[in-house]
Order: sequence, then C-alpha cells, then structure tokens
Amino acid sequence: MVKKGILVVVSGFSGAGKGTLLKKLIAEHENYALSVSMTTRSKREGEVDGRDYHFVSRDEFEERIAAAGFVEHATYVGNYYGTPTDYMEKMLAVGKNVLLEIEIQGALQVKKKCPEALLLFITPPNVTELKRRLIKRGTESEEVVRKRLHRACEEVDGVEEYDFIVINDDLDECVRDLHGIITAARFAPTRIKDFIQTIKEELLELEC
Ligand code: 5GP
Repeated sequence: MVKKGILVVVSGFSGAGKGTLLKKLIAEHENYALSVSMTTRSKREGEVDGRDYHFVSRDEFEERIAAAGFVEHATYVGNYYGTPTDYMEKMLAVGKNVLLEIEIQGALQVKKKCPEALLLFITPPNVTELKRRLIKRGTESEEVVRKRLHRACEEVDGVEEYDFIVINDDLDECVRDLHGIITAARFAPTRIKDFIQTIKEELLELEC
C-alpha cells in the first residue's frame, strides 16, 4: 500500500560482520538497494571503486559536503565517510528498501533528518568474538585494530538510540532476523503519514 521504501540504517562495531550480512540479505531477497558510500580511506585489497565505496580525495569529499550532497557524513579513524543523497532518494521513491551501512555518528544524523528511518545495530555475541573477527580479517594493522576496538568502547553508549539490536552469531539466522524486522517495519507507526498520503491519492484516483 505504501509505495515508498524503508530507509534502513545498519551499524555495528567494526568486525561485527555487517558487510557479509547485507550481501546475503540482498542476494536472498528482492527489493533491497545498498547505498554505496563515499570515503577518503584507501582501497583494501579486493575492493572495487563504485562497488564497495566511491573512493575519493579529501578535496573531492569536501566539495561534496559544501554542495550539500550528503544525507550524512562523519569522520571515522581519520577518514571521511558519507552517504550520497541522490541514489538513496531515487531508490526510496521507487519502493526499494535502502540499506545504509554506516557508523553511529552518521546514523544519528540520519535519525534527525529522517525520523521514520529504522536503525539496526549488529553485534557479535561477545567482545572476544569481536576481537577475533577483526584480527582474522587480516586487512588492518595491529594499530588500526586497536583504534577500532577503542572506537567500539566510545560507541557503546550511542546504541540506546537504535530501534533494534541484532546478534550476529549464526549468519543465516541473523539474515532471517534482519529481514523479519525490516518487513515488520513497513507497518510501523512512523510510516502512518505515508500510509494516509497513499490512501488519499488512491481514493482521489477513484474519484470518491
Ligand atoms: P570500513 O573502513 O571498515 O569500510 O568502515 C569503517 C566504518 O565506517 C564502518 O563502521 C562503516 O559502517 C562506516 N561507514 C561506511 N560508510 C559510511 C558512510 O557513508 N557514513 C558513515 N557515517 N559511516 C560509514
């Protein structure tokens, strides 16, 4: 009934497995669009420009900030990250549920701008597992792993602002949980305005 898609913000400690989860969610279900962020961090081995991120220079990023081209942007461990506005709006308008995989500062900016957004926080079952996954990934130096764990300590208080916490222990189960929550959110009170608007438009079309 409501045509507009759901804006879904997915955050979680670095190493929580968000990327893998979202890829699986998109592969198994239609109607999702993953927003590709812009960043000034260097490309990791295996990453592709335009697929994993739009990799840009600090100057390019700052130009886009000045042109108000981001829904939100933040600095994370020394680099800029931001969500381009145009793609997100286009996808929502055609009814796609848009996934933003972003950190907590950005998530809170989205919540302010778009109060109807659904905020999900992904966490491994415990901190030992979090550290194990970060080290196992092997893409970061020891120093960056340490900084990312430190950042997790700072972020933990912000988790209260989220709508749901999702525990990523078993991947399949977690994808099922995520999809279930997002499907249920179609009928959340925050979307009542959209619902009324759609019904009015449909009634007008029927000329009642
Ligand atoms: P990574 O460098 O590991 O790819 O990402 C570092 C952190 O930045 C992760 O928590 C990721 O979710 C977050 N991130 C990725 N894209 C964006 C974005 O567009 N905006 C914000 N605020 N955070 C982002």
